[in-house]
Amino acid sequence: TSNQSRTVIGSSIAINEVVKRYGSFVAADHISLDVQPGEFITLLGPSGSGKTTLLNLVAGFQKLDGGAILVDGQPIHNVPTHKRGFGMVFQSYALFPNMTVTQNVAFPLRMAGVDRETADRRVAETLEIMRLSEHAQKNPNQMSGGQQQRVAIARSIVMRPKVVLMDEPLSALDRRLRESIQIEIRDLHQTLGSTILFVTHDQGEALTMSDRIAVMDAGKIVQVGDPVEIYRHPNNSFVAGFVGESNLIDAEIVQKRGSTMTLKNRAGFVFNAESRAAIDVGRATVLVRPERIAISNEPTQNSIPVTVTSALFLGEILRIEAQMEGGETLLIRAGDSATRHLPDVGDVLHASWGAEDCWVLQ
Ligand code: ATP
Repeated sequence: TSNQSRTVIGSSIAINEVVKRYGSFVAADHISLDVQPGEFITLLGPSGSGKTTLLNLVAGFQKLDGGAILVDGQPIHNVPTHKRGFGMVFQSYALFPNMTVTQNVAFPLRMAGVDRETADRRVAETLEIMRLSEHAQKNPNQMSGGQQQRVAIARSIVMRPKVVLMDEPLSALDRRLRESIQIEIRDLHQTLGSTILFVTHDQGEALTMSDRIAVMDAGKIVQVGDPVEIYRHPNNSFVAGFVGESNLIDAEIVQKRGSTMTLKNRAGFVFNAESRAAIDVGRATVLVRPERIAISNEPTQNSIPVTVTSALFLGEILRIEAQMEGGETLLIRAGDSATRHLPDVGDVLHASWGAEDCWVLQ
């Protein structure tokens, strides 16, 4: 959304203290989230965390048990799904099998009674955007999964909706296709200027695509932030562990000065970390990402000896597990040049990290 020339047609969505129960089970537990006009926001969380429930409440497939949802400031609980005018894409493409690509994409325009000439032009534009023009006369069963999903996306945007809801639209596709369509959807969002609410359980997908990510756990949003913030500065060990690989180090707080904290691990190793935590005494859990740990064969300034328990050559990096003296086992992802060769199990290496590589959980 940093693109200055981008035209935003998207709506704001205000989700206020939303509650949804299934019997006595609370699937959405007082969820609040403010989505900006034209924003790409992703609901990310494990299976059962309530992502689809929240999306269905916004779509109008489900009724709220509490709270309110406002679109451009207007409550929508009395507006039926088809009158909300949202574009929608689901995991299953749900195309009409006996219609061509053109007929599938034109369907919402026909339903809305848009005149033939305008509809034809709009369909052609949309097929162009989704790079489907050459497939216009095909039937869905003559197309690959990725192509079919692009048709479903084309159909969802043909009305130029202010809001597009996408529920795991790429999860049926293989990894390479998924990655290329991720970029297409990002570009589409840039071009279209709609607000997109996207559901995924795939953290890489969320980091790649989103302006902001709302991380969900057990019916609650546990953190909202841009991808860099979510990855570098998670609030708690759930977010740290769900988004990326993490080392969590148990340590005692020695002192706190502004946003820098000095800590001591169980073996007495003293190091600095960044922190916004409210605590300033006692024990803390510190996150160090595997790619932020430097290793070398010789001790360096403020390094700690670690004993290799596993080492894998992965091409561009080495993946090493090593036991810290008197402490946790660290996962380390290091460039090939760090040790010059793949270490053996039992080798002693020296690990270090700077304050900026290290984050105190709240
Ligand atoms: P997934 O990634 O598996 O789709 P999700 O995060 O989208 O998960 P939801 O589908 O929103 O999760 O479900 C949240 C919780 O609510 C789950 O524990 C689920 O079993 C429960 N649930 C969802 N729909 C119903 C329903 N119609 N009746 C009863 N329980 C339901």
